[in-house]
Amino acid sequence: MDHHYNQIPNPGSIQPHGVMLILNESLEIVQVSDNVDKFLGKEPEDLLNQTLDILLDTTQILALEELLKTTKTTSNFLKLAFQEQYFDAIVHRSQNHIVVELEPTNLKTDISFLSVHHLINDAINQMQQTSQLRDFMNLVTSEVKKITNYDRVMVYQFDTTGAGSVIAEAKQEQLSRYLGLHYPASDIPEPVRKLYTTSPLRFIPDINAKPSQLIASQSYHHQPLDLGKSVLRSVDPCCVSYHDNMGVAGLLVIALIQEQKLWGLISCHHYNAKHLPYEIRAICEFLGQVISLELGHLVIQEELDYKNKLKSLQTQFITSISNAENFLDALIYPAPRLLELVNAYGCAVCLDNEITLVGVTPNQEQVYQLIEWMDININEDLFSTNSLAKLYPAAETFKNTASGLILLRISRIRRYYILWFRPEVIQTVNWGGNPNLQNSLKPSPRHSFELWQETVHLTSQPWKQCELDSALDLRNAIVGIVINKADELAKINLELERSNRELDSFAYAASHDLKEPLRGIHNYSTILIEDYAHLLDEEGIDCLNTLVSLTQRMDILIDVLLRLSQLGQTELRLQSTNLNNLINRVLEVIRASRQQVSFEIRIPQPLPTIECDPVLVNEVFSNLISNGLKYNNCPDKTIEIGYLEPSNRNFPIFYVRDNGIGIQAHHFDTIFRLFKRLHSQEKYGGGAGAGLAITKKIVERHHGKIWVESIYGEGSTFFFTLECINTF
Ligand code: ADP
Repeated sequence: MDHHYNQIPNPGSIQPHGVMLILNESLEIVQVSDNVDKFLGKEPEDLLNQTLDILLDTTQILALEELLKTTKTTSNFLKLAFQEQYFDAIVHRSQNHIVVELEPTNLKTDISFLSVHHLINDAINQMQQTSQLRDFMNLVTSEVKKITNYDRVMVYQFDTTGAGSVIAEAKQEQLSRYLGLHYPASDIPEPVRKLYTTSPLRFIPDINAKPSQLIASQSYHHQPLDLGKSVLRSVDPCCVSYHDNMGVAGLLVIALIQEQKLWGLISCHHYNAKHLPYEIRAICEFLGQVISLELGHLVIQEELDYKNKLKSLQTQFITSISNAENFLDALIYPAPRLLELVNAYGCAVCLDNEITLVGVTPNQEQVYQLIEWMDININEDLFSTNSLAKLYPAAETFKNTASGLILLRISRIRRYYILWFRPEVIQTVNWGGNPNLQNSLKPSPRHSFELWQETVHLTSQPWKQCELDSALDLRNAIVGIVINKADELAKINLELERSNRELDSFAYAASHDLKEPLRGIHNYSTILIEDYAHLLDEEGIDCLNTLVSLTQRMDILIDVLLRLSQLGQTELRLQSTNLNNLINRVLEVIRASRQQVSFEIRIPQPLPTIECDPVLVNEVFSNLISNGLKYNNCPDKTIEIGYLEPSNRNFPIFYVRDNGIGIQAHHFDTIFRLFKRLHSQEKYGGGAGAGLAITKKIVERHHGKIWVESIYGEGSTFFFTLECINTF
């Protein structure tokens, strides 16, 4: 918020609370400010081209010369007297010239060494006891306020873009708070920042005071001197109006430097003009250096603490992922952990087509679309941005949740992603009170704040390198643990598949070969009954009849085996199938075969068209519907056929519901086993106990699942999915 100072460090004028003399190496006065008569009782022309002894006695000149010997680049200070008026003289060299700045001082009000020592000691002691940056800065503002007595003391911190925010504030109670306000980088232009790194204290006792002009002797033809180190250098008009708007008259700014860069500023505002003796300013400058030093430690410590926290989260993840049965659960419980890992506000975990949202995020559909877009446009395993909408304009609609994004791609083959989100910066700003309430109070940096808001439009807080590293570490952990596990599983599955295929072909060959001798047994038994019955007694004939029916039954069983093994071997003939037409055909056949049994079929909503093998799926529906009618004592037999709307881009779940006899829960799995029947054949006229086994195999060939839910005595519902390419 401190809009400061001239771009060229020589405005040709100075603030009028002191006098400037510019001397050449022979101590001849070559330039002087036009206010000399007020302080020294002499006109500029009385002084120009004269040597310094026109003003000072020999002892003072000697002292000054002594000082200059040691003064190469830094400023130095001594007390001078001229006609009973005392001055603080601040002296420095610039381009072969000596710049002497004199500020009148009252010896009586001088601060004693002891009181200065006490003030600094107290401040430093307390600062050393705080280990948190925030606490430290709060202390800095209150200590600086104590020492300087300004109305408001703030610490500004710059971010990597140069924009700043007020991170600590000590103020007169009745003033409105600026704490938490942000302002754009343009508020403090680059040349001003540069000046602060070489001359870390800026003192402006009265921003509205009319500057005094520098007057040069006629014989002086030097280019304008660099007055970057001058304490009296006059104030840039922009800076004047900037602070005037805020109602500020007195200003003191102390630079905070870290690693030779401007880290922030301590800015002291006073609403009336305010003079500070040189000694106090020197204390502030010194304090600024101590704070800068301490700041270095604190910033490094804070970064280290943060990195350690991320590392410990990482370790927790590794442990829970290695131990977890379900890797998604290990990731998202407890939820804050996944967010803290990169300091995000929201997160989406996408495993295949299933998206799980944690924290503050765009909605499922928006995340889904975003992933689709990234699939095509982003190649890296780790990608991050703090302005998603600039790359992906659709993100503007959800800037409040996802202006910043980290994308972590865990597996390319499976669609495994983790996405972290950060909202637009404006959403996360700590206002330090309701900004709207400040309208009534005149001095307000709201304009800066609005400007800043424009510059951070559609942008989130940037991601730190350690946060990105943290995301990558998580990926490595997941890949290391989970993907290895999955690879092992895939290997086992492959072997299982191979042995299943072998089993199928064995079963096929065996059943095929069995049919031949069985037909022989059947034929010969029939011949025996037909042609030789008269040679046998009744018991013998019974045995033969049983033999014939056993061969018939065995024939059925072998057919089932053949069918099952065939199912495992033949390719699916996938085609887009309208299930409504398919069900109609199934029902026609069932009606034809069960003419005397009446039943009702309910289809609550038209079924979808899906990709499947229609012949096999016909068999699925046919089996389930027949069972529903078969295992049913109800006079009004009703079958409902429908599906559950697919959520989250999953496949629809089909169901066939009956109001039949129901199945006890402990049989829910057994009924799908081959030749497993719960009732004798006589009771419900059941089949070979193969219908559900075949149904299950067909569903599984379609990469689907089948299960049953039932209330014993009330009815059963069979659910299944068909997960070939979904044209839903
Ligand atoms: P089956 O060919 O004997 O009908 P399934 O494999 O189709 O054999 O079914 C296995 C067993 O599951 C059946 O014997 C029956 O006891 C039970 N079952 C199947 N469907 C139903 C249903 N809708 N309601 C009650 N029981 C059922």
